[in-house]
Amino acid sequence: MIKKAIKFTLLILCFSIMLFWSYSRIEKINEKKQFISGICVLKEYREEKAEDYFNYHKIHPTFELDTIISDVNEKEGKVLYYDSFIDLIKQPNYVDCIKYYFNNKEASINDVININSKQLLDLDYDNVLAEYLYLDLEGSIIRKCVDYSKKHSEIETADVIYIVDLGLEDINPSKHFLSLIYTDFFLPARIERYIKYYEENESFSPRQVVEIVNCDADQQFYTNIVPSDLSKGLLVINNKFNYLEKDYVPENLVVVDGKYSYYGARMEKTAYDAFVEMCEAAKENLLYIIVAGDNGYRSYNHQNELYGYYEYVYGTEGADECSARAGHSEHQTGLAVDIEVIILEGNRTYSYSSRYDWVKENCWEFGFIYRYQAGKEHLTGYQEESWHYRYVGKEVALYIKEHDITFDEYYTYFVKGY
Ligand SMILES: [Zn+2]
Repeated sequence: MIKKAIKFTLLILCFSIMLFWSYSRIEKINEKKQFISGICVLKEYREEKAEDYFNYHKIHPTFELDTIISDVNEKEGKVLYYDSFIDLIKQPNYVDCIKYYFNNKEASINDVININSKQLLDLDYDNVLAEYLYLDLEGSIIRKCVDYSKKHSEIETADVIYIVDLGLEDINPSKHFLSLIYTDFFLPARIERYIKYYEENESFSPRQVVEIVNCDADQQFYTNIVPSDLSKGLLVINNKFNYLEKDYVPENLVVVDGKYSYYGARMEKTAYDAFVEMCEAAKENLLYIIVAGDNGYRSYNHQNELYGYYEYVYGTEGADECSARAGHSEHQTGLAVDIEVIILEGNRTYSYSSRYDWVKENCWEFGFIYRYQAGKEHLTGYQEESWHYRYVGKEVALYIKEHDITFDEYYTYFVKGY
């Protein structure tokens, strides 16, 4: 009796398997028929390759029919569609890969292999992922791009990659955001300040906003002041946001030769050597450069007296336009010099009013910059000073001149370090 029952069960089982097998076979035949009827009308279609076309299509369901035909025709043997499978099986975590392949119908085997190599198997395959998958990007970047694109679908792929590259994916892309990030001298670390300043000053251009914030001039002068970073050496900045201590005196101060200073001015040695070079070159152009008064290096106390005098005469606001508060003067670094230019006999190129023009134009060749220029008062905090030059070295001076930026901005962008 039991034997009979087992026999009967086995029979039913066999029958069911056969039924299922023939059903899936019929389904496959139908699917194949349908596929062939679509592809056979194409020009390069070859009857004997029908099976290969179909198998290849099963591996790459998203491929166009044209691509299927050309790929299969190119390869003579029948191994073509096995290649990808073998690659898939070769993956150390092939079980996960195969699972992914079956769970994500749109993904081809190549997609899965690529997704796996970039360690993205936890992401669902969709149009967004497909957009980034074959770009030359690391998996971790793709993951961020995909996340970002899903949150901000209005932003284009190239912009998304740039935003992720800048590390700004957590910033809300408000209306000024995109124009700011492509602006010269944009610093990702200052994005919030740029946006805030832009919102308060809508009529400005992105470049103006970036320039002002890079110079810290989005803040009131003499607020948020910090000690000047002396580790920057000859590129130290001392301005209305950075100060030197009362007792700071630069090393290597030298006394300027009597030829160039009647009052025994002092300067930092490197700056002084460059200054002498500039004075000599000026002579060849029939211009005589001399330090104005003793205005090379100026001590904290000297500056304090000077500012006090201007404040007494012009009031605080007036004094701030033309003089630095004690500790904030560039002269305390020993790297700045105020000059007087005298026109030598026979000089027909320059007049009294244009006597500083040669220095303004050529100072960078000797490593100096024309520090406080007209039109940049809102950045430097000083009115134009045709007589004030700052040593920064030739390379930096040339860069600043060519890009028409202030040393304040140069410092923030290149020297400060973010
Ligand atoms: Zn000066």
